Amino acid sequence: MNRFSSRVNRMGFSQTFVMSNKVREMKAKGIDVISLTLGEPDFDVPDMIKKAAFDAIIENYSHYSPVPGFLELREAVAYKLKRDNNLSYQPTQICVSNGAKQSILNVLCSIINEGDEVILPAPYWVSYDEMVKMLGGVPVYVETSIDTDFKITAEQLEKAINHKTKALLYSSPCNPSGSYYTRAELQSLANVIVQHPNITVISDEIYEFTNYDGEHCSMAEFPEVYEQTAVINGMSKAFAMTGWRIGYSACPEWLAKACEKIQGQMTSGANTMAQRASITALKTDPKEFAYMIDEFKKRRDLVFNLLKEVPGFKVNYPKSAFYFFPDVSYYFGKTMDGKTIENADDFAMLLLDKAHVGTVGGVSFGNANCIRFSYATSEKDLIEAMRRIKEYLSSVY
Ligand code: PMP
Ligand code: GLU
Repeated sequence: MNRFSSRVNRMGFSQTFVMSNKVREMKAKGIDVISLTLGEPDFDVPDMIKKAAFDAIIENYSHYSPVPGFLELREAVAYKLKRDNNLSYQPTQICVSNGAKQSILNVLCSIINEGDEVILPAPYWVSYDEMVKMLGGVPVYVETSIDTDFKITAEQLEKAINHKTKALLYSSPCNPSGSYYTRAELQSLANVIVQHPNITVISDEIYEFTNYDGEHCSMAEFPEVYEQTAVINGMSKAFAMTGWRIGYSACPEWLAKACEKIQGQMTSGANTMAQRASITALKTDPKEFAYMIDEFKKRRDLVFNLLKEVPGFKVNYPKSAFYFFPDVSYYFGKTMDGKTIENADDFAMLLLDKAHVGTVGGVSFGNANCIRFSYATSEKDLIEAMRRIKEYLSSVY
């Protein structure tokens, strides 16, 4: 007897959490493992944000908030979108959720019917694919590679579109590749999208601030596709607030209303203390948090240099986010420590078991040649992790 719904049967576990759990289990057994699995800043939450949360407790922000979030927070989101992105949104267009993950799911739930197609430029963030499957939608993968900086072209997008296409979903800056779309590249995609008014672009911009060398551009900045775009962002990466679970969407009003309807039947308004703290975070000058970005940038360059010494890795220089996504296909078909490596997931497991470094294989990101690791961790751990990987691979190959 199969007691599961077909919904659960057709989706998989989140591989980022699967791999981080494996690391946790190994650590619990006393094994010294370095985890580069989950993408989360290792910084503490800045003091002024913590204080705002304390104040919220003392001031008794302990009741249900409106489903799409406190008005003051939605105003702060609108303020931030104007300040940083030159985007105009009314609070009625904003829905605050339990993390950007829920914001994305709200939007997908609002527009996807069984059989609808969602275009996912690959590699994509692990949850996109599974969310689409969960809803009975059909992911349509548009392949890229390290040679094209993991980005799709307007021609590829046009080719992937048909009458069933309901959405284009991507992150820029991108988890896992660390690439981002320039204004000109996004304009060329917008030129295609505007020809297909039934398509919604879900533009996940949660790594906006970790764009080290260039200018962040949002799809919603192009007036011709503003009404077709849902902007996703949140507190997790910019303010090191992963556990506080606050994200948001900014959409055309009809879509924001639908998100509110879905969320009102699922989780209600997000945690009130974290919402109050988020107002402070969003209203504070981003320069206050630049120390984290400077540090990530330093670590990126450090790791990039260390990776040059790792045999068999083909490495793209990531310009944004905080991940490396090296191509490890050099090792496929080779037998190492009695195990034949068929894809990047096998390779990631081998690194975990033998080098005691936790990474995530690329299969669930839509690229079986690469592994992902986060460099949002201490310099000391990064240096040691690279040393272990290099030493292990040099010893077996
Ligand atoms: N989008 C991307 C691209 C992510 O990497 C993540 C993971 N942090 C999320 C969305 C979800 O973030 P949150 O913690 O706000 O749910
Ligand atoms: N988004 C982070 C990552 O990709 C956190 C884990 C998750 O939500 O998948 O590692």
